[in-house]
Amino acid sequence: MRTAVVVGAGVGGLAVAGALARSGWRVTLLERQDRIRSAGTALVLWPNGIRALQALGLGGGLDAIATGLAYHGVRRPDGQWLVQPRPQAGERVPVVVHQEDLHDALIAGLGEQVEIRTGVAVRGLRPASTDRPAVTTGRGVVEADLVVAADGAQSTLRPALAPASTVVSSGCAAWRAVVPWYRAPQLPPERISGEILGAGYRFVSASLGERGSAGGSSRGGIYWVATAAGASRPEPPATQLTLLRRWFAGWPSPVGELLAATEPADLVQAEVRELRPLPPSYGFPTGPGGVVLLGDAAHAMSHHLGQGACLAFEDAATLCAVVRDAVPGPRLADAVAAYSRLRRPRTVAMVRQSRRMAAVLQARGRLALRARDATLGTISPRLLGSVAATADRWSPPPS
Ligand SMILES: Cc1cc2nc3c(=O)[nH]c(=O)nc-3n(C[C@H](O)[C@H](O)[C@H](O)COP(=O)(O)OP(=O)(O)OC[C@H]3O[C@@H](n4cnc5c(N)ncnc54)[C@H](O)[C@@H]3O)c2cc1C
Repeated sequence: MRTAVVVGAGVGGLAVAGALARSGWRVTLLERQDRIRSAGTALVLWPNGIRALQALGLGGGLDAIATGLAYHGVRRPDGQWLVQPRPQAGERVPVVVHQEDLHDALIAGLGEQVEIRTGVAVRGLRPASTDRPAVTTGRGVVEADLVVAADGAQSTLRPALAPASTVVSSGCAAWRAVVPWYRAPQLPPERISGEILGAGYRFVSASLGERGSAGGSSRGGIYWVATAAGASRPEPPATQLTLLRRWFAGWPSPVGELLAATEPADLVQAEVRELRPLPPSYGFPTGPGGVVLLGDAAHAMSHHLGQGACLAFEDAATLCAVVRDAVPGPRLADAVAAYSRLRRPRTVAMVRQSRRMAAVLQARGRLALRARDATLGTISPRLLGSVAATADRWSPPPS
């Protein structure tokens, strides 16, 4: 039986581990934390991410937990519209999911076949290009035909494969939370979803629906994500929340209500980071098999497009398709190289789009803001449209 080691049980690692196991691989999943846990907020899944999950056989689980994202356009902090939505006929809408719900669905997708080892921190790759691929842990060596490095932006395995790629700050920090409806009862549901852009600040909110509304298992609530230029804050969560309330004071509804309804324990802060340059390859044939980079380990990017997890699912679906019939030896090594050929141009294009978007979204200073506001109404729909079209333009390779 073909064997795979997946390093990292984030969304990318969970998705690929389950899908490989379902197509007949014996999979070992190694996670350094003592249990598999999600960030506990929410994710937007664009049509490409949804299609990837469907290709991985997880579409049914998604239907039960996803809420359609109503797009209400972009406003300035004074309430003036910068971009008003012009829905296109037949346009596919993104969905928003609670990360706990998504994790539950991905863990259910692991089935009985995946051996899960938590509390195991992988230290590196066994350095011998003619042997079977293998990773080293504090407890020994784990060999397999295929090693999947899904160990996130700060990947332990990547430096040996792509030493020039380093994680750098994108120049901003982000805070996220899911607020239960009962803490913001005065907010009418139609006012929840939207985006507001200020000078170096951005606030996006979306409804996750009532508990159980999308399907029997959804958790529900209101998701928001606030972005501010600068580094992440070292203060305790209660102080961070006070800062957020100060920075976003006077912004239009629902910002004030949502920040007032948020408790310090709800707050999840992230330093926004990206990989520069992207690794020259995502697939490294090794002996009779190979090592691949997947998800943020391969192409960490800022969250402005909401595409990081979607691309991780695309990676997983592509990898599963190319290795489906590949047996260890030249065919598996070729499949590993094919994975990189398929994934790299796609993710390079998406990273480029995310940087263009960052330049628009993070504009600061009076002149830059004036230019942004003057042009956003004309450029941004085009930019947003081209981003959406680029993101949408993906389908799983035939297996
Ligand atoms: C504010 C914000 C908002 C976002 N919103 C969206 C969105 O709306 N839509 C979207 O698609 N994406 C979004 N993203 C991006 C998305 O969260 C990431 O791209 C995605 O979570 C990456 O998943 P991953 O599995 O590749 O990595 P991770 O989630 O980082 O998982 C890596 C796993 O590997 C484990 N690990 C690390 N090192 C080791 C080791 N040495 N040994 C064993 N295990 C190890 C870690 O513990 C972790 O469990 C957002 C990101 C941010 C910061």
